[in-house]
Amino acid sequence: MDERPDPGIAEARSKVLARITAAAKAAGRNPASVDLVAVSKTQPEEPLAAMLATGQRIFGENRVQEAQVRWAWRRQGVELRLIGPLQSNKAREAVALFDVIETLDRAKLAAALAEACAKAGKTPRLYVQVNTGEEAQKAGIAPREADAFIASLRRDYGFAIEGLMCIPPVEEPAGPHFALLAKIAARNGIGKLSMGMSADYELAVQFGATSVRVGSALFGERVRPG
Ligand SMILES: *Cc1c(COP(=O)(O)O)cnc(C)c1O
Repeated sequence: MDERPDPGIAEARSKVLARITAAAKAAGRNPASVDLVAVSKTQPEEPLAAMLATGQRIFGENRVQEAQVRWAWRRQGVELRLIGPLQSNKAREAVALFDVIETLDRAKLAAALAEACAKAGKTPRLYVQVNTGEEAQKAGIAPREADAFIASLRRDYGFAIEGLMCIPPVEEPAGPHFALLAKIAARNGIGKLSMGMSADYELAVQFGATSVRVGSALFGERVRPG
């Protein structure tokens, strides 16, 4: 029987924060320049409430409707980030709910977001997702198309692109993908990098991540896939 004590949400968070701090210092970076995004997708109420009680205020969700149910009634003081693929027909709901949309990756979605932002009178902070591994099944703009896409977002919609986001292929070392994302950001004058998950957030910090998206290292393994 598995009776290992549950280290608890607060302890898990402290550990992750300590490792982020250590990784940042080792890389000669200011630990305060790295935000921890707690990925709360699929989590039931109890761990979520426990995480809020620790003082954690930045959360990531990968589905619009699931996030609405979980967060709409307690948006106050919480920064919500959409980190999953967004369908154009959900742009309006996404603009209404999220402070940050990290998965802008195609022209059709940009147009839908621009229209939704104009109607809502507000624009979330925007990240462009780059498919650094050029995986057919994965969302994100191809690396070689990223510069032109970013330029068109700025020119056609006046979007200020805050950052870039990537999810490296699971079966490859993540370092080269993080380096590629940093390079694309630098040559486009973009300052923020959303990269690194439970398995590799320290490496991501080494490569310049300004936010890491951590789920299972904070909440334990998910009961069902995200
Ligand atoms: C689920 C998810 C994460 C968190 O993954 P963990 O390995 O549990 O830390 C990070 N980013 C995205 C886009 C995700 O969908």
